[in-house]
Amino acid sequence: MCAAPANEPTFRESVDLMFNRAAALMDLPPGLEEKIRVCNGTYTVRFGVRLRGQIHTFTGYRAVHSEHMEPVKGGIRYASAVDQDEVEALAALMTYKCALVEAPFGGSKGGLCINPRDYDEYELEQITRRFAYELIKRDLINPSQNVPAPDMGTSEREMAWMADQYARMNTTDINSRACVTGKPLNAGGIAGRVEATGRGVQYALREFFRHPEDVAVAGLSGKLEGKRVVVQGLGNVGYHAAKFLSEDDGALIVGIIERDGALYDPSGLNVERVRDWLVRHGGLRGYPEANSVADGGSVMESDCDILIPAALEGVINLTNAHNIQAKLIIEAANGPITAGADDILRNRGTVIIPDLYANAGGVTVSYFEWVKNLSHIRFGRMQRRQEESRHQLVVDELERLDHMLGDAWSLTPSFKEKYLRGADELELVRSGLDDTMRIAYQSMREVWHGRDDVTDLRTAAFIVAIDRVASSYRAKGL
Ligand code: GLU
Repeated sequence: MCAAPANEPTFRESVDLMFNRAAALMDLPPGLEEKIRVCNGTYTVRFGVRLRGQIHTFTGYRAVHSEHMEPVKGGIRYASAVDQDEVEALAALMTYKCALVEAPFGGSKGGLCINPRDYDEYELEQITRRFAYELIKRDLINPSQNVPAPDMGTSEREMAWMADQYARMNTTDINSRACVTGKPLNAGGIAGRVEATGRGVQYALREFFRHPEDVAVAGLSGKLEGKRVVVQGLGNVGYHAAKFLSEDDGALIVGIIERDGALYDPSGLNVERVRDWLVRHGGLRGYPEANSVADGGSVMESDCDILIPAALEGVINLTNAHNIQAKLIIEAANGPITAGADDILRNRGTVIIPDLYANAGGVTVSYFEWVKNLSHIRFGRMQRRQEESRHQLVVDELERLDHMLGDAWSLTPSFKEKYLRGADELELVRSGLDDTMRIAYQSMREVWHGRDDVTDLRTAAFIVAIDRVASSYRAKGL
């Protein structure tokens, strides 16, 4: 899957190198450092499904990186090049991501080697149910042990099939809905989950631009408004990030890069129209409105303020890092910058808002969904209840929710205020996500500015995350 050239470390090695850079600045016992870094285990499954009169064999993985908190959490990816190295790298990133935003989960990730475009919906359902069956049997899908979510190539449709498969195999489990997140709304999902990762990218950038000193480190000034943004990958994450930044914050989406080419327009592209074209035609080719259609590489390296890699790992690597002109890069994808490219960019003064923070919006809202499923209460406004009894009920519910979330993640004052006011679910989700992104940024920033030996946000993020995982191991033992 990795787009990086062969002379670079693998994706997993790249994540480990970034981990080591941070761990070297910490005072961890060497044994604990290694325990945190390594992946606890990866389950590989091969199963057959009869399709079009023939048996097809598929290979899938579920890696569990760290069980310092359970359940472990992370998406399931469908892509042809999924392999063990990739799911282990992604599972490790989940551990650090959850620690950074204080979602009380360990890290996990799964994948199935399949090009979903090669199959119709009915076939995909059969394949997904069969894969889920294998994982459920081994507690690798389970509300209290391992909770998957969508990732590249999967969506709420696949999550609904998996949840249903779990419910069929566990008919007496009252919490069965909490076995996966990212489900459709009418199957136990939560409002705002589909947009959550892109929304999180928007909130992360807003928070960054609230700190003029940080903006100045990147060699930029002023607000998000009018900033020239290039987005690589207009899938779920890239599309929502680009849409929200252009519609709500006045950023100019000057470049969009996709599989088959790229669009560039210095006066700003219409994200909604580009996405519409992409969905209908399967690519950008032929898009009528852009001033120029260019190759992906040149748009990625074009003169812009903010670059948002939002698709694959390894797209910024030793071959192109020197040519990247963006002053600020926000990693909406997992692992888009290789360790080697990270060194080059860091030494040149490019500011990188790292993946473990930048794309944590997805798992944050997954956490809300999981809590909603387990609490068996609605999030937000109760329409049918009497106004006078409503307030006390809401107060009681909020207390229950706060209690359930416990010390690991207490409700912020603004979330409580909105809850009591009777805000609807989407408003609550957005506000909880915004609070989470702000708080996590502050914790990274304190380390970034507070220590002379830390010069970049990624190292700061790893230090915060590793420290939290280490405290959890110290508190409960290995
Ligand atoms: N696949 C997403 C990620 O990489 C979401 C994971 C989740 O919600 O558990 O963060």
